[in-house]
Amino acid sequence: MNNPFESALRHLHQAFEYAQVDKNLLKILKQPDRTINLSIAFKDDKGEFQVVNGYRVQYNNWLGPYKGGLRYHPRVDINEVKALSFWMMIKNAVVDVPFGGGKGGIEIDPKKLSQGELERLTRAFAKLLAPNIGPKLDVPAPDVNTNGAIMDWIADEYSKLVGKPTPAVVTGKPIGKGGSEGREEATGLGGFIILEELIRKLNLQKPLQVAIQGFGNVGSFLASLLFKNGYQVIALSDSQGGVFSEGKGIDIAKVIQGKRNGKSIGEILPDLKQITNEELLELPVDIIIPAALENMLTEENAGRVKAKIILEMANGPTDASADEILNKNGVIVVPDVLANAGGVTVSYFEWLQNMKSKNWNIKKVREMLKEKMVNAFEEVWKIHREKKISLRTAAYVLALQRLNAKS
Ligand code: NAD
Repeated sequence: MNNPFESALRHLHQAFEYAQVDKNLLKILKQPDRTINLSIAFKDDKGEFQVVNGYRVQYNNWLGPYKGGLRYHPRVDINEVKALSFWMMIKNAVVDVPFGGGKGGIEIDPKKLSQGELERLTRAFAKLLAPNIGPKLDVPAPDVNTNGAIMDWIADEYSKLVGKPTPAVVTGKPIGKGGSEGREEATGLGGFIILEELIRKLNLQKPLQVAIQGFGNVGSFLASLLFKNGYQVIALSDSQGGVFSEGKGIDIAKVIQGKRNGKSIGEILPDLKQITNEELLELPVDIIIPAALENMLTEENAGRVKAKIILEMANGPTDASADEILNKNGVIVVPDVLANAGGVTVSYFEWLQNMKSKNWNIKKVREMLKEKMVNAFEEVWKIHREKKISLRTAAYVLALQRLNAKS
């Protein structure tokens, strides 16, 4: 497996050639400010203690408190978390929110835990992490296999330790527990806004055919929006594999209902052609949307991509070698640090509401999200056209210029 942090640094080096910023920045930004390793002990349902590895990487805080999600996954490792925290630094700068980059994770398969075990694990994690997080220090959020309930347990543990309710210590909380309207849909909606801007610039006509890899928070919200707005989602997948509906759009509401009942996509749509996650990325569609995990497009398969647009909703789905192949083949890659920035943008709105004890309505959140995403898109697009560089390099150039201004 490719090291995602090395891939991230390759992108950084490429952008430096164009960014016209202080050369010392490269030296500083090549490693995180701080890496926190934790051994988390929690009691399982048999009353035995289990000890698992946890991490929090605080990459850089020139623009504001460290900010980024927590991932629970058996394959979490320190290079992955470093890469994810680096991308958060770039993303927050691209979308212009006053946060730095951070990310964390626990090396565990949460699907094998009971609800009680998940809660005890999370509360133990929160206690260990508490001295290193806080509303003005480092603000975690959900990521793969984490959700509002997990954020609520962390906020509760932290609040007990500091002796006062402190919802702003995490974002992505449930509504009623300090969460914001519109946070759950935000990453998918942000990606949708960016895609609409792109197809307008490229003068493309709908219906456009789309394949989406990953059907969790991000993939499912985006798929619904595409379905309702004239796109044809003809392929979908989850960790068990996927389906392909040649020529005909898939009914997304039916898939969402089936997933709620615990079924895999293949089980929900058994009459459609069953495909692997690898095959999905090579389908003859207009747009592919990786919305699962990193390193899905590599040197090995990038040359076989037939789509003309890739909207990176996952973090780091395209490694640096694949990126070069796709650019050479004229595929437009909308980078993760722009495409999936809607989530952290509404996380910022949530944090702001918590800090000011306010509650915004969904209309206000959506309008403000749209404004942020469209502005970020326009700025990246301008750099892309002026410097004749890929959208990814353009996004990194924008981020480096903003970081340089605060260094
Ligand atoms: P999630 O846990 O809700 O869903 C992940 C989905 O990916 C599930 O459908 C799962 O079955 C699928 N999956 C897992 N392994 C897979 C594999 N090997 N092949 C294909 N599918 C696989 O997670 P999410 O919150 O939707 O996050 C998805 C991606 O988006 C991640 O890269 C995450 O970092 C990124 N992201 C999430 C947010 C957010 O707000 N949730 C924000 C920005 C970026």
